[in-house]
Amino acid sequence: MTVRQHFAPSLSEKRSNYLLMHIQVEGIEGLPLIHKGDDLPALICELTPFNDGDILSIASSVYSKAKGYTKRLADITPTARAIRIADRTREDPRFIQAVLDASTDILLEYPFVLSEVSTGHIGVRAGVDQSNIEDEMVIFLPPDPMAAADEVREEVYSITEKNIGVIITDTCGRSFRRGQTGHAVGWSGMTAIRDFRGDTDLFGHVLKITEEAVVDEIAGFANFVMGESNNGVPAVVFRNCGTWQGHDDLYFRREEDILRKLLENAR
Ligand code: GDP
Ligand code: MN
Ligand code: MN
Repeated sequence: MTVRQHFAPSLSEKRSNYLLMHIQVEGIEGLPLIHKGDDLPALICELTPFNDGDILSIASSVYSKAKGYTKRLADITPTARAIRIADRTREDPRFIQAVLDASTDILLEYPFVLSEVSTGHIGVRAGVDQSNIEDEMVIFLPPDPMAAADEVREEVYSITEKNIGVIITDTCGRSFRRGQTGHAVGWSGMTAIRDFRGDTDLFGHVLKITEEAVVDEIAGFANFVMGESNNGVPAVVFRNCGTWQGHDDLYFRREEDILRKLLENAR
């Protein structure tokens, strides 16, 4: 898949600091079913060449399977709270217990559990999955997805001597809109945000607000290429994305998160 951007010469002269992009997107086909102990970076490196600056997106579910961040429902004993919530949401209390165990703060119990996990990501059911794994099993998000992204990046470097960026993705719902999209839960080798504040628009106005969540945009496209069901494409490589400057402050701090405050006040 190739994405090209064309600009009229008069416009491209005005653009400061911005590469003409000719991004290539490749879904990695041919990976096997992943199990605990599999060396995911090595398997990916066998299937595609890397260049400096490439960005590799990996589905969190598959990273977690390789690391064994999974559990059998039979090994989970639900607490009274899990049983009470599951009774309302009509889910398996053992599954709800897995969600509670993965959560550091519960924002909502019904009609679905919405919770924060250790790195600040807030997601429905704490990102715990029951798909793309054997029956009666659950997959957790990696407990430290930022470290996971660092580790994949370092392992790809040790195999290929190429400096790439890595994004660990998960499919998540959004506020205000129907439909799920890919989100970045961990990243390495890039900043999460491209900061446009202080830049000027086509008419010379100084931008005051715009911070672009680039890692989520790339995760969204990666998720589109991966699909959700039986595609078998858990990794996507983006080539020629250029570089950007910004920061890693992707998650709202508690005091600035308006929706979170409203949910807390509604409890
Ligand atoms: P999530 O978005 O991280 O929760 O992951 P999904 O369950 O949606 O899977 C994303 C992509 O990875 C889909 O194309 C799945 O078919 C694929 N996938 C999931 N598990 C495996 C696996 O063990 N091996 C391979 N080759 N693909 C997998
Ligand atoms: Mn998931
Ligand atoms: Mn998915």
